[in-house]
Amino acid sequence: MPKTITLLGSTGSIGTQSLDVARMQGYRVLGLAANRRLDVLLPQIAEFHPRYVAVVDPAACEQLEAELAGQPDAPVLLKGAEGLVQLAAMEGADVVLNAVVGIAGLDASLATIESGHDLALANKESLVTGGHLVTDAVQRHGVHLLPVDSEHSAIFQCLQDAHSAKTLEKILLTASGGPFYGMTTDQLRGKTRADALKHPNWSMGAKITIDSATLMNKGLELIEAVWLFGLPEDKIQIVVQRESIIHSAVQFADHSIIAQLGVPDMRIPIQYALTWPERLPSPVPELDFTALTHLSIGTADEETFRCLAACKKAIRKGGLGPCAANGANEEAVALFLQDKIGFLDIGRLVEGVVDSDSFGGDYTLADVHECDRMARAWVRAHL
Ligand code: NAD
Ligand code: MG
Repeated sequence: MPKTITLLGSTGSIGTQSLDVARMQGYRVLGLAANRRLDVLLPQIAEFHPRYVAVVDPAACEQLEAELAGQPDAPVLLKGAEGLVQLAAMEGADVVLNAVVGIAGLDASLATIESGHDLALANKESLVTGGHLVTDAVQRHGVHLLPVDSEHSAIFQCLQDAHSAKTLEKILLTASGGPFYGMTTDQLRGKTRADALKHPNWSMGAKITIDSATLMNKGLELIEAVWLFGLPEDKIQIVVQRESIIHSAVQFADHSIIAQLGVPDMRIPIQYALTWPERLPSPVPELDFTALTHLSIGTADEETFRCLAACKKAIRKGGLGPCAANGANEEAVALFLQDKIGFLDIGRLVEGVVDSDSFGGDYTLADVHECDRMARAWVRAHL
């Protein structure tokens, strides 16, 4: 039987690559969800014939409703943020892949798990903002949480031997360093949106591309790794690997290290999350070792890239600290993409929010959303 998937965030970078994998593997698509890109969504509906489509943006929703009216085999349209959550919980999918960007994906991740579905998670912000809610729900419902983020997929792949996984001592979380690796604060000051959108190795959505330039992405991934693999922050070492060939590594009690390597192509981790525990052939080119003249390794400069330092502080504070850092970053990145603040302001604002409170203690989903709102308001008040 071919697998049936539901894909949230189908019009994005991960979403479209996930449909490449679905096409290749002959998967059926139960549902597709997007915010507003109907130019991308309509051909996806025509090709994959989902039974349900969720569209969040109200104007796009209205437009799609008009487009689909009268079509005999039109999918059921689910509307708004509520529709996204309804789709996540819809019966009939073997796995739900969440490739929404930002905290907008959190409620859908929880709905996926609470309805008993396995969750293939690209939306790292779900774990950053609501890590304990997500991991508790996974425990309670006995579902699988399958990482899509390339580093976390690498770590997950290195830990498939359950026996040695028990002696995991340390994670080596790799980072490309982004377009501004090695630069000083002075050199970063004038960097524009266009400079920051030029990632050396990966082609991704705008938000994560900016996060890669500020190293916020690595800070978010460090928090994601704490929740996924249960090691404390000080057992996760960030290693810069400029070519993005080593996707991460794990070290065991005997100091043996296992790493996962491959060309930088997200279709490998996406496919592994969907086929796990199996491995299936992939059209991704093989890594040619004879062409690898060198692998450059370095360290991440937290003094200059303050977002990374702020994320470490946030996870040490615990509670809603990471949620606050994430909310501040989402707001600051949106402002940077509108040319309203400078590149270095992103780190200043994220660190400012993290320093503004203790954030400790247990939390509910309502607390997470309230904290996110407060962090965004703090940013707007401190421009
Ligand atoms: P993207 O901007 O290309 O796509 C985002 C998707 O989310 C789109 O389909 C959009 O319609 C949808 N979306 C946006 N706002 C929404 C909202 N309010 N409600 C519902 N849907 C909404 O982003 P991306 O680069 O594909 O990244 C998606 C997620 O995957 C992010 O969490 C990112 O950190 C993670 N990720 C991406 C990559 C990559 O290579 N692109 C790698 C690892 C992890
Ligand atoms: Mg990553």
